[in-house]
Amino acid sequence: MDKENKKTILNILTSSGLLSKEQSDEVLSKENLIRSRIIKSNELKGQVVRRGRAVHADISIIDVISLMNLPVDGKSNTYVTEEVVMKEIAGHLGIKFIKIDPLKLDSDVITKIISRPYALKHKLLPIALSGNHLTIATSNPFEHESIDRISQSKGYDIEVVVSNKSDIVKIVTEFYGFRSSIAAAEDELASNVDIGNLEQFVKLKSISELADTDQHIINAVEYLLHYAYSQRASDIHIEPKREHCLVRFRIDGLLHNIHKMPKAVYPAFASRIKTLSRMDIAEKRRPQGGRIKTSQDGKEIELRVSTLPVSFGEKIVIRIFDPTILMQNINDLGFSKREGELFGDFLSAPNGLILVTGPTGSGKTTTLYSALKTLSTEDVNLTTIEDPVEMICEDFNQTSIQPQIGITFASSLRTILRQDPDIIMVGEIRDLETADNAIQSALTGHLVMSTLHTNDAPGTITRLLDLGIAPFLINASLIGVVAQRLVRKVCSNCAEEYTLSEGECRMLGLNYDEDKKNNVNIGTGCNQCRGTGYFGRTGVFEVMEISDTIKAEIESKSSPEKIRQVAKNEGYTMLKENAVKVLLEGRTTVDEIVRVIGV
Ligand SMILES: [Zn+2]
Repeated sequence: MDKENKKTILNILTSSGLLSKEQSDEVLSKENLIRSRIIKSNELKGQVVRRGRAVHADISIIDVISLMNLPVDGKSNTYVTEEVVMKEIAGHLGIKFIKIDPLKLDSDVITKIISRPYALKHKLLPIALSGNHLTIATSNPFEHESIDRISQSKGYDIEVVVSNKSDIVKIVTEFYGFRSSIAAAEDELASNVDIGNLEQFVKLKSISELADTDQHIINAVEYLLHYAYSQRASDIHIEPKREHCLVRFRIDGLLHNIHKMPKAVYPAFASRIKTLSRMDIAEKRRPQGGRIKTSQDGKEIELRVSTLPVSFGEKIVIRIFDPTILMQNINDLGFSKREGELFGDFLSAPNGLILVTGPTGSGKTTTLYSALKTLSTEDVNLTTIEDPVEMICEDFNQTSIQPQIGITFASSLRTILRQDPDIIMVGEIRDLETADNAIQSALTGHLVMSTLHTNDAPGTITRLLDLGIAPFLINASLIGVVAQRLVRKVCSNCAEEYTLSEGECRMLGLNYDEDKKNNVNIGTGCNQCRGTGYFGRTGVFEVMEISDTIKAEIESKSSPEKIRQVAKNEGYTMLKENAVKVLLEGRTTVDEIVRVIGV
């Protein structure tokens, strides 16, 4: 971006009141310093950077401004970010600003119209093509030549929109990286082989298969994984179809189509993933499971891979386990103050049984792993029995049950006791034998943690009694019960105030007061949350301590209702009440409470 543009941009920002004259001068005086800092930090991140003027020129004045984190003139809470600047420039020039949603892009449109170097050099991204009408996003709307050239050479009728440079660069890197790797791999396979054509199919079989060690295939897999992390995907689905192979990501619970890859490349692609996860690449008819440990932005990420032979080949699903989600600080899980303290007390007990309950997907594993992480110190032996091991953590001694060869939760527990453990985590108590062994371990000086499939904390007592555990054994071993659910959090980027209706208040057990409005937040949907209005999830808990009064109720085999009533007198609050607290804090919605907890 040349000097002239720099002046224009600063003028736009000062005349619109985003920057004061002083701030604008500050930008100019610190410009070179900040450029050097950006280069330095890119070098630290291991990016290949060319030294000298070329690199300096690639960092625009907008990059400098957004890195300076300047408050909008006269305001304290809003900052002049890249997006603020781009929107202002777009408005000034009368061009539309678009925040690009990569999941809505067609990778064919992007990668076939201009080359990657051209896109990167001019910070351009073709984002939509309908008929002859091409939409191009640019982060440098002052420069027309690069866009004119596309229109001249390809004859498109071009609409220009403005977007953030950081988004453009990221998408160009990921889309072109994946696409060009796949295309290069396909070329090596003697291009344009039509799998549907029998003659060519026979020819393809005679060509030696593209090896999974091929650099293009390695790159393609790498790009795909990076892209999945950056899109916060929880699962990657790779599905062979008749003509092609479909790649989809699950993000916030929903699947999105990401790429289509030629069928010819698929075997090598699948082999590469199978090799990485230490599966048998020759075995294609039986389902397999494996793991990959990789790192992303300096943190280790665990991938659990499974294959399933389907009509057109092997379907691969890669589940992504993010340790920052699976192993959190206990205080970040979503406990209220009282519950958090109680749970902390449970964990500091030298021995006994702690149970975490809730349906599948309610975050029990996260609670257990996070608790184990706090407990794992040099002076204790911590062992887990899981089905299967969720995420490998070096500090724990983890074993998987294998029922087909007789290794069950119950039998593993017996074996583990010979290994001098201090803390034992049993994945799940499903039967009397496991429950019995867990209680015996708790009674013989071990801290035992496990999960149970019940809806709430009082129900856990009934479940143990139903399994056939004597009340005195429950009383002697059980320290406390945690019941939990996960609710989606309102997206902070598009949150708006919402007043609860009288009906909603009644449903939630709140006092309706027309004057004192019950205001909460609701997400209206934006790019950041993919239009859902939600971003991330938080736990909602109920924690019940097995106090002496509760013990008396257990002794007389009271109903869950009776136990709940007694617990309430001691300060216990139910899941729903705690969820309503989260609602009133503006962090979740009524719909979400109804969906997850019911009313
Ligand atoms: Zn949003």
